[in-house]
Amino acid sequence: MSIYSPSIEKLIESFEKLPSIGHKTATRLAFHMLDLGEQEVQEFISSIQNARKNLKYCSKCFNISDTDPCTICANPKRDENVICVVEDVKDIIAMERTHEYKGVYHVLHGSISPMNGIGPEDIKIKELLNRISESKVKEVILATNPRVEGEATAIYLSKLIKPFGIKVTRIAHGIPVGGDLEYTDEITLMKALEGRREI
Ligand SMILES: [Zn+2]
Repeated sequence: MSIYSPSIEKLIESFEKLPSIGHKTATRLAFHMLDLGEQEVQEFISSIQNARKNLKYCSKCFNISDTDPCTICANPKRDENVICVVEDVKDIIAMERTHEYKGVYHVLHGSISPMNGIGPEDIKIKELLNRISESKVKEVILATNPRVEGEATAIYLSKLIKPFGIKVTRIAHGIPVGGDLEYTDEITLMKALEGRREI
């Protein structure tokens, strides 16, 4: 039997669904929300609703953006002939923080993981191949995470892309195995990008 009323319990449960939020933090956040004024609550709700309504996927690279194409794809200073393939939108932010990369991206929205029932058709691989076949791409940099799934995805992609006669590179290690691009510092990521080699 919970010590809280069902409404509060429900609010706590909602917060607990967010990443890295445990029961204690969820409880604290729930009570904080109850202390907010009516206007603050409305602003919070509409900021979530607006973000959901306005944000869309870029039809070229599948980045999340307010515009289609996204600001990176629409920037004439970016080199369209180099595509950096990442698993997640957050990895683009990590790569952009290095200020080193001047090409464009392709977000797979996941990695191949037979254990979790995720096959090649469940991520944006077909879209990447279409993009490659329709443009003059010179290099594809595989920047999937250095985990089993990320490595397997990189190998799978290199086999599919090579027949197009395009240079395929994999970012160098230095990023801890099992790590995430998202949590890798800029210097390590910059070195991993510079030290990429052909696979
Ligand atoms: Zn884009």
